[in-house]
Amino acid sequence: MLLMTDINLFESVKRHVCSCAIDLKLASNIEAILKMPMQEVHISIPVRMDDGKVRGFQGFRIQYNHACGPTKGGIRFHPEVTVEDVRALAALMTWKCALYHLPLGGAKGAIICNPKELSDGELERLSRSYIKKIAHFIGPDQDIPAPDVGSNVRIMSWMMDEYVNVVGKSSFDVITGKPLSIGGSEGRNDATARGGWFVVREAARDLGINLKDATVAIQGFGNVGKNAALLAGPMCGCRVIAISDSKGGVLNQNGLDLVKLEDHKNRTGSVLNSDLGTEITNKQLLELDVDILIPAALENAITMVNADAIRARLIAEFGNGPVTAEADDYLYAKGVPLIPDFLCNAGGVVVSYFEIVQNRNLDHWEKDMVLSRLMMTMTDTYRKVADMATKNKISLRRAAYSIAVEQVVEAMKDRGWV
Ligand code: NAD
Repeated sequence: MLLMTDINLFESVKRHVCSCAIDLKLASNIEAILKMPMQEVHISIPVRMDDGKVRGFQGFRIQYNHACGPTKGGIRFHPEVTVEDVRALAALMTWKCALYHLPLGGAKGAIICNPKELSDGELERLSRSYIKKIAHFIGPDQDIPAPDVGSNVRIMSWMMDEYVNVVGKSSFDVITGKPLSIGGSEGRNDATARGGWFVVREAARDLGINLKDATVAIQGFGNVGKNAALLAGPMCGCRVIAISDSKGGVLNQNGLDLVKLEDHKNRTGSVLNSDLGTEITNKQLLELDVDILIPAALENAITMVNADAIRARLIAEFGNGPVTAEADDYLYAKGVPLIPDFLCNAGGVVVSYFEIVQNRNLDHWEKDMVLSRLMMTMTDTYRKVADMATKNKISLRRAAYSIAVEQVVEAMKDRGWV
């Protein structure tokens, strides 16, 4: 049965916080603070379109909790994004930064739009106007945006440039995920996927899954999904047999030719209509009998409607919120191992943090240094979470929540907030 709460990511996140409050014996006033954002900015953004008419867009920036430091989180460009989604994603960023001991809080932003329907000029005017409107709420010491679904390195460049225009001084560290020429970090482009594989590698060892030739299905072929696919073989020796995007998926039991698939997607805008495998739906992809299932697209991919049909030996949440709270409980009770989003997909924010450190020191780290620090950070944090999960006989998600929330609460107490 699909419950109302089962499709609202913010409700799912709050439910996890409730369980965590019990584990940590948190006072009810502290729990209440953890279940609401500290600051929300809602804006309307008038943009002159190419036909000369002005169109209004709606945007948000939500700073969830800044107890641990300036807030950090991506900006989503999507036609169906809601303010509730942004709250949930900002909360997840808070737990993610705390879990990884980064001196950052959590935030998220969004513009309700379909970037695929906008010309380059319209997209640039929209991106610049958004930043102009929120410029006084963000900043290197306040809130530092980054890319998310529908946004990319080019949009980050326009936004950083616009922020510099508004404040009148060079502030490269206001945004991460920039190109190398303007203060980006080596290794940022595929950091989320690479970090995810570092964690999967550890988890597979614990679970006795041999990654050599293990089969993988990936939902999503954007920054995270595509890089997860491209790194699966080189990093772990896995065989990617299925991939999808918003239009559908493609399956080849012998392993997909990823170079040809990427080329096909670049040329046609979709993974469909190639001769690289048979076409499947997103629903079929999620239910494939594979060693590792990687949801790397949007929220609520696995709910109580399809949880029972999942046959993967391990689910690794490279995307945010792909499994609802009810489905998560169900899968845990059924014994399906799952690596939760804010443990699995933190590679992006970890390298973003490295980017900030480099910007502030006017420094440039070689790629080897970025990747070795990323590997150490991801594997150490996974180990901490896995040890707690084993010791207390709880899920990895519950253990990760305990560590992260405790960190945020300690910061709130130390600052005298509670
Ligand atoms: P993206 O916009 O680059 O790619 C999203 C992909 O999902 C696209 O291939 C799109 O076609 C596909 N998609 C959209 N709706 C779909 C659907 N209903 N079914 C199947 N596929 C669908 O976004 P991204 O940056 O790759 O982000 C993917 C997920 O990872 C999101 O949950 C995001 O919040 C999370 N994430 C991203 C980063 C990052 O660094 N980009 C970091 C951490 C977490």
